[in-house]
Amino acid sequence: MAKIPAYAAQSAKSPLMAWTIDRRDPGPNDVVLDILYCGVCHSDIHQVRDEWGGAMFPMVPGHEIVGRVSHVGKSVTQFAPGALGAVGCFVDSCMECEQCKVHHENFCEKGVAYTYTSTEMDRKTPTFGGYSKQIVVKEHFVLKVPANLEISSAAPLLCAGITTYSPLRQWNVKKGDKVAVVGLGGLGHMGVKLAASMGADVTVLSTSRAKEADARKFGAKGFEVTKDPAVFQKLRGRYSFILDTVSAPHDYNAYLELLKPYGTMVIVGAPPEASSVEAFALIGANRQLAGSNIGGIKETQEVLDYCAAHKIAPEVEIIPIQKINEAYERMIRNDVRYRFVIDMASLS
Ligand code: NAP
Ligand code: ZN
Repeated sequence: MAKIPAYAAQSAKSPLMAWTIDRRDPGPNDVVLDILYCGVCHSDIHQVRDEWGGAMFPMVPGHEIVGRVSHVGKSVTQFAPGALGAVGCFVDSCMECEQCKVHHENFCEKGVAYTYTSTEMDRKTPTFGGYSKQIVVKEHFVLKVPANLEISSAAPLLCAGITTYSPLRQWNVKKGDKVAVVGLGGLGHMGVKLAASMGADVTVLSTSRAKEADARKFGAKGFEVTKDPAVFQKLRGRYSFILDTVSAPHDYNAYLELLKPYGTMVIVGAPPEASSVEAFALIGANRQLAGSNIGGIKETQEVLDYCAAHKIAPEVEIIPIQKINEAYERMIRNDVRYRFVIDMASLS
């Protein structure tokens, strides 16, 4: 066991503060990463405040991790000390079930081991995430960081990147498709960049005008403010695909009406409270409502490689870990441009 500095919440009501965790001694298949950067996802806030239920404390959040390999177990073949490595939302799975075999480890039938507020596959040992100096992860769950990605801005690809890339691929978003992205935060801004890179005609649906210039810089052709109810009349039936990244409860029915017949709205945002869906919002035009959950290891590697090839990078604001509680407050006020990334050098 190694004692590792970290930042943790001791309960759903307490702020994040310095703490020390134990990391296991690396086994033959393990990679040890000295963490350089960790992105801050809105899921970290939902979890730290136990908004979804079932949170485990003390909690060390963080599932957008980029680090440098400091040690590898003797059976590791894909990584060597000194290389870069990355870890996303989960750190282990059974690797044998139907879902794991088709590279959907996130849907492991035995239950995936999430990077934090979860347990290892022994279902006993708690997992601790990337707001820490070091992590020990089985090789299969460590991603390669392409050489031409900027290290300090790559971390958000591990969650915000894969979570938006995966549904764009699953629903085959392509050149000329009219796509709306709801919410321009960490996920939303990656959704815009990725959909635009696939040739889609992207509109951002945002709660204010504040982010319009940025949205256009990221590749959006349209920008509409959803505070104005007239906008929903104007945009009725316009989009073939809507990606909803909103973190707070909102009326899905209003957005469904913006789909063309046979269009699909995919929910990736995970508000803590349920919202009702009216049958006629779907029946009215054979619309589909779907959800999407991060992505497997193979597809996560694909998005890293895709972003390197297409020169797509998240927009980040680098913070020291001491600013994490303030960063959460800013995210809740929609004041994020567009992903906070913790420089782990600030933690000693
Ligand atoms: P974020 O950076 O805080 O962005 C959320 C954005 O949603 C805000 O910037 C804001 O955009 C918009 N918004 C917030 N409150 C709203 C409201 N009441 N009505 C309409 N729009 C509102 O959050 P994030 O990190 O991108 O995460 C977004 C959500 O996705 C979270 O719930 C998170 O847990 C979830 N998530 C899901 C998965 C998955 O696998 N499905 C993976 C990661 C995260 P504007 O300023 O443009 O209005
Ligand atoms: Zn996340």
